Amino acid sequence: MNEQSNLLTAASPDDIVARDKRYIWHPYTQHGTETDPLVVARAKGASLFDADGREILDMISSWWTCTHGHAHPKINAAIARQAETIEHVMFAGFTHAPAVDLAETLASLLPGDLNRVFYSDDGSTSVEVAIKIAYQSWINRGETRSTLIAFEGGYHGDTLGAMSVGCSSQMFGAFKDLMCDVRVVPFPATFDGDDAVDEREAAALSALEATLFECKDTIAAMIIEPMMQGSAGMRFCRPGFLARMVEMARAAGVLVIFDEVATGFGRTGRLFAMEHAGVTPDLVCLSKGLTGGYMPLAATVARDWLFDLFLGQDFDRALPHGHSFTANPLACSAALAALGLYAEEQTMMRIVKINAAHRTMLDVLAARTDVSRQRVLGPVLAFELNEGGAYQSEASRKLRAWYIANGFNIRPIGPTVYLMPPYCITDEELLRAYACMIEGLDRLASGSL
Ligand code: PMP
Repeated sequence: MNEQSNLLTAASPDDIVARDKRYIWHPYTQHGTETDPLVVARAKGASLFDADGREILDMISSWWTCTHGHAHPKINAAIARQAETIEHVMFAGFTHAPAVDLAETLASLLPGDLNRVFYSDDGSTSVEVAIKIAYQSWINRGETRSTLIAFEGGYHGDTLGAMSVGCSSQMFGAFKDLMCDVRVVPFPATFDGDDAVDEREAAALSALEATLFECKDTIAAMIIEPMMQGSAGMRFCRPGFLARMVEMARAAGVLVIFDEVATGFGRTGRLFAMEHAGVTPDLVCLSKGLTGGYMPLAATVARDWLFDLFLGQDFDRALPHGHSFTANPLACSAALAALGLYAEEQTMMRIVKINAAHRTMLDVLAARTDVSRQRVLGPVLAFELNEGGAYQSEASRKLRAWYIANGFNIRPIGPTVYLMPPYCITDEELLRAYACMIEGLDRLASGSL
């Protein structure tokens, strides 16, 4: 260790890459084949900048986290202000204004009696907490129900419980023996001009009905990404389907968990995706955009009656869960500032504009023979490459590399190409992104990538 308290170096990008390759293990990365990572020196608005000042438009909001834009002055100021008073305190036996203000704000934004906020650190932990609350709520009622219902293609994170309910994502084969009992039902993914959606929804609902009947009295909860499955490749469903399956789960006495980690905070065109269907789940998981994409923070919000089931005189009835950084004040302050911006910057109107711009691309995409299933929901535009291959296929990796080399962070998920920009993106930036997206497709089609 040298004597400086700050060990950050002013190293060259090449040096950073060399030491990254020696010391770092990156997420979702096959280091055997991956090319060198790009060193990001700073970011502003919708743009990332490398050490030479080269701009890369962040067209997927850095894994869907960044909502209002990078380095937003108001969120920056809120974090700096908070750091002057208290950066962190343990959250058992202590509390603080940022955590309480944020919980109260979330309760006021969410429908019904979704009022009890359990904080954790990221999307996966928020799902883990929801599963544990659901499971233990049955134990506290004197029943053991250990089966969960999830949807085909659903993805809920990388911790063990979250992987279990994401078992059909085909990402987690190595861990199958560690997983808990999950029944998977079809997800009726739909797109522009889809003629078969009614049939697909009917089939999904009857599969759900059969599962609810077959596993009667053993199902603790059903979990779904409402309106949009993110990691499965921006697969949308219709609000009527969502409403109907919630109704069916309720009728069978099964708890409903909405994983709004990716869909929350405007990503489907409403502040929360549940608003499309006018339904209130029993538990909702929030993260990613919660802090504007600044800090790891998550919330699992439960209905009042669920919280009440954990009350009593014995610790056995309490929820045995908590993290070192639960309700970190810096993160809560960032979240409060980020939530305040929706009114201050008329964010939902910006999303309407992004949606309108995306819609102009639907015909352009429909006219191509190399792509299909074009679709738009809120600020998300997505379509499939007809010859796309699997996750990290050669085509998708080549496209990603070409887009980055040409100044756009567009990262296909297998055959799915999509845009999900930060809401601060300008019309001009969007037009540039569309042009680049199309040129990449042309080059892929002509073999000149
Ligand atoms: N749920 C959903 C719907 C997600 O999209 C993700 C992450 N992409 C997660 C959970 C896991 O979140 P995290 O990566 O923050 O653990």
